Amino acid sequence: MRIYHSIQTNLLLYDDSWNKVFESVFRWNVSTSYDFFSSLRPYSVSTFLDRLKKFQDRSGKPGYVICVLNKENDKKVLDICMIAEENGFHIKLNYLYPAGAARRLEFFTPVEYLRALKKVFEHRDEFPSVVIDPVDMFIDYAKGKIMELPCPVTNRCVGKIFALMPDGKIYQCGEMADIGEGYLGDVKNGIDQERFSELLEVSFVLDEKCMKCGLCGGGCLKQRRLYAGDMKVPTPFCTVWKEMYRSALNYLEKS
Ligand code: SF4
Ligand code: SF4
Repeated sequence: MRIYHSIQTNLLLYDDSWNKVFESVFRWNVSTSYDFFSSLRPYSVSTFLDRLKKFQDRSGKPGYVICVLNKENDKKVLDICMIAEENGFHIKLNYLYPAGAARRLEFFTPVEYLRALKKVFEHRDEFPSVVIDPVDMFIDYAKGKIMELPCPVTNRCVGKIFALMPDGKIYQCGEMADIGEGYLGDVKNGIDQERFSELLEVSFVLDEKCMKCGLCGGGCLKQRRLYAGDMKVPTPFCTVWKEMYRSALNYLEKS
């Protein structure tokens, strides 16, 4: 078994003293986040791009930036992609979910998320030098380049991803920790096998339509808990993922 370590940071305190840790522990598997055109951002866009540029120069990597789409910035999704293209970083367009600081903003629906992503599909070729996920994940999946759709689509993350939080607690992932679910143990005592088995079991939805479809296997546990109120039912993002897959096939047909 091979274990890859990565770190998620907003780079706010990034300076050269971090390079040794980033290189030797994380092998530059560093992802960051910035919510463009949104009041959720903790500091200005120029400060963020400045930190990111330093990271790009030191690591020789483009950087992978997670940007949360919400009602404030979803109409600017193409401007966000252009900022990525102009500054040479890859981007993952996530969606605002009602937890943490996001509670103060208006609820962003799966339909609104889909609308924004479909716009990216329509203009995908205008941003040739960067990866734009989850749009590119679906294109790769439709091409057969990857056999499974990764996070935020999959139900197969349990046992493959573990998130170590700053307080030493271990969760399924940071997003599950945000909503107070998926606690699996702590750094001192390790993984609680009973909790882990329960989560693994619940991740496999034995729904007939999911077994026939197979696209997301019932989907992300956080979505099921937050949007459907029950981790035992398939994700309410079902239509989003099916439509994304159709868009990826259309994109490939046209290109
Ligand atoms: S896309 Fe819908 S039907 Fe298909 S596996 Fe996912 S939740 Fe089930
Ligand atoms: S539970 Fe959802 S957000 Fe967490 S790793 Fe799995 S797919 Fe990603």
